[in-house]
Amino acid sequence: MRAAIGVDLGGTSIKYGLITEEGKLLKKISKPTGKSRGELRILKDIAEEIGRIQKEFTKKKGFVIGAGIGIPGPVLKDGYVENCVNLNFQNINPQEILEAMLGKMPIAVGNDANVAALGEMWQGSGRGFDSILIVTLGTGVGGGVVQERQIVYGSRGLAGELGHVVVKPDEKELCNCGKRGCLDQIASATGIVRMTERILRFTSAPSVLRDKPRLDAKMIVHAAKTGDALAYLSLDYCMSFLGKCLAEAGCILDPQVFVIGGGVSQAGSFLTDMIQRHYENNLSLTKRKTPIIPAQLGNDAGIYGAAKMIITQEKERMEKENAVRGESGILWRNSGTGDRSSRVSGGLK
Ligand SMILES: [Zn+2]
Repeated sequence: MRAAIGVDLGGTSIKYGLITEEGKLLKKISKPTGKSRGELRILKDIAEEIGRIQKEFTKKKGFVIGAGIGIPGPVLKDGYVENCVNLNFQNINPQEILEAMLGKMPIAVGNDANVAALGEMWQGSGRGFDSILIVTLGTGVGGGVVQERQIVYGSRGLAGELGHVVVKPDEKELCNCGKRGCLDQIASATGIVRMTERILRFTSAPSVLRDKPRLDAKMIVHAAKTGDALAYLSLDYCMSFLGKCLAEAGCILDPQVFVIGGGVSQAGSFLTDMIQRHYENNLSLTKRKTPIIPAQLGNDAGIYGAAKMIITQEKERMEKENAVRGESGILWRNSGTGDRSSRVSGGLK
């Protein structure tokens, strides 16, 4: 049996999945990141865990194709990471380092949201589509683009970074990227809490949220779902910015489907219907509405996508090698001058 290891490297935990070429999850492990110990120590942990999974699988007569890793920051196609704020990785190439640590095992590294998009397209709600735009609503707003079933990296690894598109230019507070009014500040789990707290301060309207000592996005979504007018108004306000942003992203990418993932997306169609309404209100040029649907794989999208990334990379490499072999065969056949038997023996040398 052939399988790949998918790794989702996050700020608090590292998730590992052993997934077959057909998309069956055989094993899942989660370990703390311990990010304060520095990048090399984290990469060494990853290499050791990958090595352990490989050894165990080989014992069962399995073959590990390689490992893919999703990282929470911009990643270039060759695996280079200029600046990953969440992990404090700077000017480093985790792909090269892991390849060196793991001998000959093929490694691929990608941005976590792009990798999650690939996972959803392979085994989640994006199945059957060739192009998707995934938006993850978690601590921040992440975005991933898949076109023609391939991750779009962009020239600087920024493709799909929807979170830092400015959607509210009159915003007074600063985003952690240095700008004001980013989608991240409004539609992420943190953003929804921030905007709701602001609305609670500016109005005396009754709400179940007033009794809570500390708010989180899950509480707000639940209150909105169960009829709390203020919570509904606040969530709807936050999602109006996302809906508008998706309508504009559609003018650039025009995907077949928008997939909403991340912790907040657990609200399901209640949330995506809300986003869909705002998206349609901002639509121009076409009456054909792109569906907005919730992600299916939840926290596992990253490990599925990371495994798929290395499976695709290795498949393409093999195809290229076979093509080169095929071409040299043609060259040899065309250049042969002797009889058939001498040409065959020449080809076998
Ligand atoms: Zn920002």
